[in-house]
Amino acid sequence: LSRAAQLVFDFAEGDRTQADLLGGKGANLAEMTRLGLPVPPGFTVTTEACRHYLARGTEPPTLREQVTAALRRLEDRLGRRLGDAEEPLLVSVRSGAKVSMPGMMDTILNVGLNDHSVKGLAAAAQDERFAWDSYRRLVQMFGRTVLGIRGGLFDDALTAAKARAGVATDVEVPATGLRDLVETFKHIVATESGREFPQDPREQLDLAIRSVFDSWNTERARIYRRRERIPHDLGTAVNVCAMVFGNLGETSGTGVAFTRDPATGRPGGYGDYLANAQGEDVVAGIRNTMSLQDLARQDPASHAELMRIMRRLEAHYRDLCDVEFTVERGKLWMLQTRIGKRTAAAAFRIAAHLVDEHVITLDEALTRVTGDQLAQLMFPQFDPGAAGTLLTRGMAASPGAAVGEVVFDSATAISRAAAGARVLLCRRETSPDDLEGMIAAAGVLTSRGGKTSHAAVVARGMGRTCVCGAEEIDIDAEQRVLRVGDVVIAEGDVVSIDGSTGEVFAGERPVVPSPVVTYLEHGLDTAVEGLDADAADLVRAVDRLLRHADETRRLAVRANADTAEDAARARRLGAQGIGLCRTEHMFLGERRVLIERLVLAESADAHAEALAALLTLQRDDFLELLTAMDGLPTTIRLLDAPLHEFLPDRTELAVRVAVAEATGGTVDPQDERLLGAVQRRHESNPMLGLRAVRLALVVPGLFAMQVRAIAEAAAARIAAGGRPRVEIMVPLVASVMELHLVRGEIDGVIAEVAERAGVALDIPVGTMIELPRAALTADRIAEAAEFFSFGTNDLTQTTWGFSRDDVEAEIFASYLEQGVFTVSPFESLDRDGVGSLVRMAAAAGRRTRPGLPLGVCGEHGGDPGSVRFFHDAGLDYVSCSPYRIPVARLEAGRAAL
Ligand code: PEP
Ligand code: MG
Repeated sequence: LSRAAQLVFDFAEGDRTQADLLGGKGANLAEMTRLGLPVPPGFTVTTEACRHYLARGTEPPTLREQVTAALRRLEDRLGRRLGDAEEPLLVSVRSGAKVSMPGMMDTILNVGLNDHSVKGLAAAAQDERFAWDSYRRLVQMFGRTVLGIRGGLFDDALTAAKARAGVATDVEVPATGLRDLVETFKHIVATESGREFPQDPREQLDLAIRSVFDSWNTERARIYRRRERIPHDLGTAVNVCAMVFGNLGETSGTGVAFTRDPATGRPGGYGDYLANAQGEDVVAGIRNTMSLQDLARQDPASHAELMRIMRRLEAHYRDLCDVEFTVERGKLWMLQTRIGKRTAAAAFRIAAHLVDEHVITLDEALTRVTGDQLAQLMFPQFDPGAAGTLLTRGMAASPGAAVGEVVFDSATAISRAAAGARVLLCRRETSPDDLEGMIAAAGVLTSRGGKTSHAAVVARGMGRTCVCGAEEIDIDAEQRVLRVGDVVIAEGDVVSIDGSTGEVFAGERPVVPSPVVTYLEHGLDTAVEGLDADAADLVRAVDRLLRHADETRRLAVRANADTAEDAARARRLGAQGIGLCRTEHMFLGERRVLIERLVLAESADAHAEALAALLTLQRDDFLELLTAMDGLPTTIRLLDAPLHEFLPDRTELAVRVAVAEATGGTVDPQDERLLGAVQRRHESNPMLGLRAVRLALVVPGLFAMQVRAIAEAAAARIAAGGRPRVEIMVPLVASVMELHLVRGEIDGVIAEVAERAGVALDIPVGTMIELPRAALTADRIAEAAEFFSFGTNDLTQTTWGFSRDDVEAEIFASYLEQGVFTVSPFESLDRDGVGSLVRMAAAAGRRTRPGLPLGVCGEHGGDPGSVRFFHDAGLDYVSCSPYRIPVARLEAGRAAL
């Protein structure tokens, strides 16, 4: 920092664009000052000064003199001196980072009061009680935040003072009681911190500023930043502001307000007000607040002024704003404003309303909503009208509303679910052994672990509702009960959990499907039927913004879908095709034995027979799929899974054979042969083993059978007057040579089927790019591929060398904690690593084959942040699971702006 650096700015100097330097609060105070709104004068110490302090442990050398100069300007302007014995100036010292971190950092009010100035304040305000109340607040806040004394000590003393005075609330404690309380508080300070409460006003100010700097690095602030992905090196600004008083009797008060309702998005001011109080009382919930309507009755002039200012702010910021304000003996002062946080529903409604009001354009409205918010609106919700008994609150780990009987282990979850019950799996924490139980359960509830715990990560991955880390819950798996305080819930009792809020309710709360999903699947008219005005307005807002996103976006959105049913749903949700049909999913269940037969076939006849049986089934599958997707591109991927996945479990089989041998019984010869085959096929790393294109080159006939089924289905569709647009995709290619080899076979089969059916079959054959080698040699691979589809799941797995099946719960919790990454690379694309490969391969592929169609079909195709990346990388489409399609449409629209 150069000596000339300006570290202190008067409110009148800055503006809203300077949040980097002045913090959000400081920049907006400056903006309001510039607008001529009634902001008490003050100054802001910059984030630059804070960063210097945090790095070196001392304030920048010129800070002291700059604060002195700013303080002098403030004093001269108001004609009062900080902490003067007569009519003293008092200031508030408040934190304010670039991004808001509500309640995470320090605030100290009434700085400047001491044993002398308290009397000056009493005389000037003609209110003894008020002066002592302000002083006790200073000692209390200063003691807690600057000197780190446990707040409970002060609270207990205050409670005792109320008891002594025989009153119920702190406003009733008389002046003498408060004067005694100040003495008690000072005594607490002296014994707990080993130093007297500083009487020098300037020393109070300097210590308060330093304490705000320090509060940037408190544990809770660090945790908050990690969760919100706020960088740790920004630092906070400090705002020093002339005090105005809301605790000067009944004509004074303080409040917070929003220019619209941040929960529902309803227009009109919305807020809480507390008479005869200072700022922290409102949020602390000490006394019941009143509404703005109440304020209008009590103090119509201040209310009218507040509404006028809020309209002004909203017009100026062109968005929902929230404000903090104080009324001092009937005069309104603005202490803070910012763009207000809001729920997902409010975000959509407010954006649409602001378009209606001609405040913003539709393009801007699209920037005001996110794919994550849309995803939130799609989960089933508890009926907001229905009552429920709140048991406790945990962390909102995976959204949705789930109701079920409580079970305490996976086996019970599975058996109860099989019997038709809806169950909630309750565990202290989950482990990979709980996976099946989690799949069987409607929701998962844990008493330990955070948002990256196994339960949270896995539940999110499979879209299961989850509340984790509900620490008040004591789970006694042995006694098969859980306890919350005095409440005991036994296995089989019904509990409801809200994964969007972390709430846990005793008993059943009614769940309603999201009206947004009804709209997405069945259209606006069906969806709004019977909805209340707020819900209908929300659905209309979503419709409007999603349609605008569709008009704006360049990226097409396809679905990952394996069945005709999924395909039809995807189409209703706006899919423009199928980007990935995973054919291995067609071999699960009863059909598994057909593959088993193929693998075990010992004669050419048996082999051919097994293939023929598969062919018929596959052709029917594809016929249904192509019918559902008529006219739209449908990418079918040839078998990808490792063969052993279709064979029986090795251990089970070995045990069966061993038991038969040991007990002298006869070993089933079929078992023996199976065991041999399973042993032969056993791999330590099946994901890196015999799967996908490698199967085609090792087990002859498999791919040819699938291609024949696809081609015959397409020919049948053409004969029936349909418009099949099928594409064949080869997985896990690493070398162009692999692709040349399988293409020989594929093209041969297609030509043969076309000739026999007497139709022209135009079936492009492309490949997945899901191995680093494929990406690195994409120019060569494009010689044999008519399209690329990035398989970012495998590409992430192989680029990072993380097994996608094993790694997440164990390693990622610690990696996230230590900041190796801020989000799982399987969830959101790792732009620097995997993303580079994508960009490189896209460019190389198109060099060889200009206009080469490019898509992505890994999970990232439905991740809001990744969609933007794929847009920027010039891809043609993303493909994702059906319910992610609306999210991808919205994000693709946003990315194109
Ligand atoms: C991928 O690897 O990204 C992909 C889509 O294929 P799968 O997930 O089936 O391996
Ligand atoms: Mg893959």
